[in-house]
Amino acid sequence: MRKAASEMLDYNGCGMSVMEMSHRGSIYLEIINSAEESLRHLMNIPDNYRVLFLQGGASTQFAMVPINLMVKNRKADYVLTGMWSNKAFEEGKKFGDAVAVASSEDQNFSYIPDLNEGMFRKDADYVHITVNNTIFGTRFLKIPDVGDLTLVGDASSNILAEPINVSEFGLIYAGAQKNLGASGVTVVIVRDDLVGNCSKNVPTMLNYKTHVEGCSMYNTPPTYSIYICKLVFDHILSLGGVPAMYETNLKKSGILYDYLENSKMFSATAREDSRSIVNIPFVTKDKEIDKKFIKSAEKRGLVSLAGHRSIGGMRASMYNGMPVEGAKALVDFMHEFEKDNS
Ligand code: PMP
Repeated sequence: MRKAASEMLDYNGCGMSVMEMSHRGSIYLEIINSAEESLRHLMNIPDNYRVLFLQGGASTQFAMVPINLMVKNRKADYVLTGMWSNKAFEEGKKFGDAVAVASSEDQNFSYIPDLNEGMFRKDADYVHITVNNTIFGTRFLKIPDVGDLTLVGDASSNILAEPINVSEFGLIYAGAQKNLGASGVTVVIVRDDLVGNCSKNVPTMLNYKTHVEGCSMYNTPPTYSIYICKLVFDHILSLGGVPAMYETNLKKSGILYDYLENSKMFSATAREDSRSIVNIPFVTKDKEIDKKFIKSAEKRGLVSLAGHRSIGGMRASMYNGMPVEGAKALVDFMHEFEKDNS
């Protein structure tokens, strides 16, 4: 953000801000190409995958995925692990025979269901998973084996926070606003063979082929958001890439989970074998104490700790931008709060 601020009015001595320049000019082309190159580097993206910078958020991908991929047999299998996967499923149902092959709704999405290859329909056009469940704080510690089927992953909340083996997926999508940069751009990483198979009646903007052929420039891309992504990618590379982020995220989440394991007042809601390292929901046994905790934490400068409006309680979302000191400060405060209120 400091770098963006320093070149806000004059990018690299060219006399213009990034948001003023033509997206087809050579200076901007260098920015978007460098963003793609850095992301390819960070995620080891194989050459037979395209990287797209799109708009409409991950929520638009809930529809673009079935529109573009549910085309051969018009069948898709979804794993339901929370609100975002449910939303993706609801969109999928609009375009063909989408079924939920597994769900953890029976225990309020507090775990990742056991999956095996035999659970998926052999003729499903794809299997959809939400790799990290932002609201319920669970993640796939092991990516399911779908055999020859195409796996699609929503990695909105864990992209660049932990290693993802791109070649296990046919398509990965992620809104930028958590670990990649500012909102307004959505990254899609898609294998070549999955592009260009949809019906001709599909609106131009919803066809991946349009954006592959136009190099994410069929229309004006979210230029400033992509530029911020480039800065974030380069920053992460300078810190040691995804392995370094992963190590720090394990440390941060470890500090909080360790405390939650030993606390008599607070407990984690996600099952131990399914826990996210970036979203950590927790509760006390009393909703009034939860409210008091959130209010008192805010007074200490520990903000945004309320759980998602759909489940309440608390949630610490510690994306790449949060340093280890943030996790320590939270636990120090929880300790103090527990002592004063038990
Ligand atoms: N999927 C996941 C896993 C998310 O966390 C979110 C946003 N929090 C979305 C999808 C929706 O993203 P967007 O707001 O970019 O549409």
